[in-house]
Amino acid sequence: MDMQNEAVNQPVNAAVVWQALAEVKDPEIPLVSLVEMGIVRDVAVAEDGTVTVQMTPTFSGCPALEVMRREITEAVQGLGAAAVNVEMVLNPPWSSDWISDEARVKLNNFGLAPPPRHGGNVQTILFWDAAACPRCGSTRTTLQNSFGPTLCRAIYTCNDCQEPFEQFKPL
Ligand SMILES: [Zn+2]
Repeated sequence: MDMQNEAVNQPVNAAVVWQALAEVKDPEIPLVSLVEMGIVRDVAVAEDGTVTVQMTPTFSGCPALEVMRREITEAVQGLGAAAVNVEMVLNPPWSSDWISDEARVKLNNFGLAPPPRHGGNVQTILFWDAAACPRCGSTRTTLQNSFGPTLCRAIYTCNDCQEPFEQFKPL
């Protein structure tokens, strides 16, 4: 397989870039892609072939930031793009509402409860919406520790099946 020849046959446009980025996994949760997580925000291809990718990390200071930047760059370079810019967009901050429905199913099947959608108002959801157990679906769950193994996750225990599980925190 000669990647260079493939790139010549297939001009780099935004749709092709989005396809390539859909294969780039989130380094922190490798079962979902950066596109599914809503981390890749925008793709633009200039007339000279320069590809600009805008990304918003799940939280600023995310340790995987440089890994994500490199993997995005490599994926776009693999298409034969003339040049690649990866721009960090921190405003608006990343929202867990941007996680796609497909990714929510994958997270749940993995045993990581997806964050409830909050429509921009995180405060309301923290008080009224309990995390649902990914194993039995029960919402009779108890928050054990708001800081799980990463800043993005909280640890709960299910009151029905007694199993501990992690929830991706609504942000
Ligand atoms: Zn349960």
